[in-house]
Amino acid sequence: MNSNQSPCLDVQEKLSAYLDDELTQQEQQRIYLHLQNCPNCKALADDLLQMRGDLKSAVLTSVDTEHLPRVLADRPARRLAFVGWALVIAAVLLLGGIVSWQFIREVFSESGVGRWLGIGVIAFYGGLFLLFLSVLRQRLIARKTDKYKKVQL
Ligand SMILES: [Zn+2]
Repeated sequence: MNSNQSPCLDVQEKLSAYLDDELTQQEQQRIYLHLQNCPNCKALADDLLQMRGDLKSAVLTSVDTEHLPRVLADRPARRLAFVGWALVIAAVLLLGGIVSWQFIREVFSESGVGRWLGIGVIAFYGGLFLLFLSVLRQRLIARKTDKYKKVQL
């Protein structure tokens, strides 16, 4: 606290912290008392409060909770997404199926070490695929319980 500084300057510097209740109780008290007796600083504090209120309401309206459920529940968008996912999954299954089928046939036409190596590779990728499926399933379940609960509000 600089005693050479005018009390108003000191108060104005700490207004923001004062409004956030971040000062010591003594300082809060001192600024509170100053604001009671100094219309200048009081006006400034009011302006600051007003500005914060505006900011808050601007943030709140931009995250418009009334429209959010409707956007999320937009049927055409969800149908398009569903068709898109179905196509992607079908393509992956088809291509993956063809490649693995060829691979498996080659593996079993081989003999000795090559065959066991191939089986090892198949087991490895099969395992990866199953892990991927389990993660996907968990995600879907999490998404359903999460979003739907929020939307129902
Ligand atoms: Zn003042």
